[in-house]
Amino acid sequence: MSTLIQFEKVEKSFSKGQHVIRAVSNANFSVKKGSVLGLVGESGSGKSTLGKMLIGLEMPSEGMIHYQGNPLWKKNKFKRPRPGEIQTVFQDPQSSLDPRMRVKDIILEPLLALDNKQREEKGESLRLISLVKRVGLKAEHLDRYPHEFSGGQRQRIAIARALITDPAFIVLDEPTSALDVSVQAQVLNLLKDLKKERGLTYLFISHNMSVIRYMCDQIAVMYKGRIVEMGPSAELFERPRHPYTKILLSSLPGLFESADEGKLGFANPSEVKPGHEACVFYDRCPYRMEACLKAPAYRNETDEHGFACHLKK
Ligand code: SF4
Ligand code: MG
Repeated sequence: MSTLIQFEKVEKSFSKGQHVIRAVSNANFSVKKGSVLGLVGESGSGKSTLGKMLIGLEMPSEGMIHYQGNPLWKKNKFKRPRPGEIQTVFQDPQSSLDPRMRVKDIILEPLLALDNKQREEKGESLRLISLVKRVGLKAEHLDRYPHEFSGGQRQRIAIARALITDPAFIVLDEPTSALDVSVQAQVLNLLKDLKKERGLTYLFISHNMSVIRYMCDQIAVMYKGRIVEMGPSAELFERPRHPYTKILLSSLPGLFESADEGKLGFANPSEVKPGHEACVFYDRCPYRMEACLKAPAYRNETDEHGFACHLKK
């Protein structure tokens, strides 16, 4: 599989009054074409900020992001590969769909960025109807308004809106977190099928390890703006190396309990206040030791699996 996206030493900081908040630090990774990269971590870990840099909503403070070998940001400007090539589906369809717009206009809106030739009226309406059916809605739904639909249906509308421009890559930011569990599975399956049919590549952002496991080929675990572990999904679930990853897996029923470490939880905050130099996880790590007051380097265990922790095993 070829590389679609490459992050190189990407940083994103915000200033808040006197303080500088480092939302993303030293992000280095790639996404292969046709794969699903999962970004997992608690809220505020920098997952969404990272996703926003790929859709033009946040500009990296440092570093480079390449899309098919070309810089995505150049001279402080977002360089779209082609209009509609990169799309997004957000968590909350309630707030991401304009309540005053009919479903038809919501789905067609991204096409306004394309030129008329690409939009050719007849082709457009035929495509619209087949797309709406494909995501599990009906043609007669097109004239209704978002409030007439359930949460799951609204997310199907958002998915159709993302697909109308025939994208190659979609950022899915917690796409099912606002839905009931039973509906969640249907929407996840739809996303999986669409990916296969259309050869899509996804960045899948979630705080839910089971969802991540179900959807993703590669997983990056984020904590306080840093990727603390990354690897192929199966490997990461079988042999997690970072204590934070282990704790996330421990929260899944039956999954990690039989392993040597048993159930693992967060430590109480340490009495020693960790400085800037310390490991980002120091304050909550059950294995912290003096050496951890100096941050560990990220190291690779295999070609694809790496982590940032001083522990040997
Ligand atoms: Fe925990 Fe130390 Fe590893 Fe950080 S480096 S995760 S504090 S053991
Ligand atoms: Mg978020």
